[in-house]
Amino acid sequence: MGGSAIRLQGLRKTFGRTEAVRGVDLEIPDGEFFSMLGPSGSGKTTVLRLIAGFEVPTGGVVELAGRDVTRLAPFERDVHTVFQDYALFPHMTVEQNVAYGLKVRRVPKAERLAQARRALAGVRLEGLGDRRPAQLSGGQRQRVALARALVGRPRVLLLDEPLGALDLKLREQMQVELKALQREVGITFVFVTHDQQEALTMSDRIAVFHRGRIEQVGTPAEIYERPATRFVASFVGASNLLEGETARRVAGAPGTYSVRPEKIRVLEESAVADDAEHSTVTGTVAEVVYLGDATRFLVDLDAGGRLTALQQNLETSSEDVAAYRGSRVRLRWHRRHAVRVPDTH
Ligand code: ATP
Repeated sequence: MGGSAIRLQGLRKTFGRTEAVRGVDLEIPDGEFFSMLGPSGSGKTTVLRLIAGFEVPTGGVVELAGRDVTRLAPFERDVHTVFQDYALFPHMTVEQNVAYGLKVRRVPKAERLAQARRALAGVRLEGLGDRRPAQLSGGQRQRVALARALVGRPRVLLLDEPLGALDLKLREQMQVELKALQREVGITFVFVTHDQQEALTMSDRIAVFHRGRIEQVGTPAEIYERPATRFVASFVGASNLLEGETARRVAGAPGTYSVRPEKIRVLEESAVADDAEHSTVTGTVAEVVYLGDATRFLVDLDAGGRLTALQQNLETSSEDVAAYRGSRVRLRWHRRHAVRVPDTH
């Protein structure tokens, strides 16, 4: 352990005229929870399928644990894939589903049943081994799929939007469980999602995909607080960019800056203007959205552009919130929270 679980070099894949993956270089160390995040069509699933061996690259190299596997079939790779629809066998019991891979590998019956039971206990499904998938809830089916993936102790687990079919509450619960499970088993997880919140919550590191390329790789905090490109700044978190005249006035130099909504305070227009540590801008509240625990303000700036500010509802109630619409305000943030976004891309 301690080496690199996955290494991709110059990976490319074209389908006819579509360039799905346009030169991806990536190294994922052993034991990492790594997410591939990006909008629909950005190439993340194709990269996952290239790692699994379901697709052959047009160019580049896939290495697993230091071994070039680019031309190897899926079953010759020490990886397992969990799909969004779980792909459980409906006519088999839960236990048979979990033990199936071991059966294919000719593990003796008693041994594979013991392992399947252990795997089911690991995902908190002990006692449900005799049911069929149709007799389980969505979250339970998800766990069966995980148990089936983990039973063979693959070195790498590839997960393609595995929580996509679950409702929000269950999804959030499974995010926490999945992360805990990954820590416990220490297997490298590569998790594909288009949900930025999910990626930020679960990952050790994230790669942000855009049009077949990776725009940034980093920890959740790096991606969120130091977006490397304009695309990352707008795709992860609310798109809150200072540009043109507003940027010139606030920062004293042209360029594009990103300020996260929760870093912005909404004050009365008459509040103190800029000082050495803070920037302020004035504007008019265009929209107020009451979110229960917080309120979102959309403010049209006098110098042009619009910013979103998020305030915790420490004392405010939903009745107070509506009164803000159309009012004049001053937005203030600490200067270090306005992050310069490179203009490339
Ligand atoms: P989603 O979140 O919607 O799954 P994605 O980021 O995973 O999107 P991919 O599925 O990797 O994106 O697709 C990248 C591009 O490649 C898309 O334009 C898609 O239409 C195209 N593509 C993927 N698979 C094939 C295929 N088998 N044949 C033709 N085009 C494909």
